[in-house]
Amino acid sequence: MDFGLASTSFSDEYGYQTETYHPSQVSVNFVQIIQQLHSSLDPRTVFACYGKILGQHLPIQGVHLESDEYQLSWGNRHGVNLNRQILCKGTPLHIDYQLLHQLTPSQDLILEELETLLLQPLINAMQYQEMSQQAMFDALTGLGNRHYYVQSIQKALALVQRQQANIALIVLDLDKFKQLNDRFGHKCGDYLLKEFGDIIRSSVRTTDQAFRIGGDEFVILVQGGLHAAGLLCERIVSAINHHASFHQFGVSCSLGAAESSHIVEPEQLYELADKALYQAKASGRNCYKLSQTQLS
Ligand code: GH3
Ligand code: MG
Repeated sequence: MDFGLASTSFSDEYGYQTETYHPSQVSVNFVQIIQQLHSSLDPRTVFACYGKILGQHLPIQGVHLESDEYQLSWGNRHGVNLNRQILCKGTPLHIDYQLLHQLTPSQDLILEELETLLLQPLINAMQYQEMSQQAMFDALTGLGNRHYYVQSIQKALALVQRQQANIALIVLDLDKFKQLNDRFGHKCGDYLLKEFGDIIRSSVRTTDQAFRIGGDEFVILVQGGLHAAGLLCERIVSAINHHASFHQFGVSCSLGAAESSHIVEPEQLYELADKALYQAKASGRNCYKLSQTQLS
């Protein structure tokens, strides 16, 4: 489909062959645009690519999309504002365009065409991101799942080996959680699991990684070794004991931690941390124990 007379071809920094925008003469290569928009499965990249294409063919200097889950943006926020709506799987998506000046009727048509071309690659990218999230994260707590943990601990231990850094593993398990489910129901149990996930998330540092690896069992990969792990355990025990719902339902948590300053297998590190957790359970629960065994 060709809307105009002349254009100039050039390659941008990503190597895309694109055509310059001439205010009165616009030539649009839609096949090339479809290829460009489909070349990424990251919604932000797809949208940025869309913005660049708009900038090359129309007097548009910024475009922004906001939905419940996404805030996508390209260019600046100044100019003549144009709000449009496109339907994405039945849900309206609001797009704000910042124009250099009002669009002519033929430019309006081009914009409509470009919006139609954006939709499918954007849906693909959003669905891909959603599926990747589901494959790696636990739906109830939003923390990493067991699969993600297995990958992460392998990577972390490989880094320990290369950088001679130190990491620790904390294993956490709620105390007498079965009793809570039996007495107050599964829904109440789920609520506390979710709250527990939030407590862990707000207690860890950004460099640490937390996962739910089973029913009421969680793990944290801690950068910095056993001392850092001990401080984190203390923060979590204290946060649980001060949490209204945990207090109300009489639920606490036991923790065990072990460190790896040398090359070890993930299973070995887990076993040591789990043994320490068992000691915490055996000594009355609602506490943490640090493994004194050094793996080498
Ligand atoms: P302990 O102090 O020895 O850990 O006792 P416990 O009762 O917590 O025993 P355990 O950790 O072995 O039991 C975990 C319980 O967690 C079993 C099950 O009732 C409950 N559970 C597992 N997954 C879920 C879940 O997704 N939701 C809810 N509500 N409960 C779960
Ligand atoms: Mg338990």
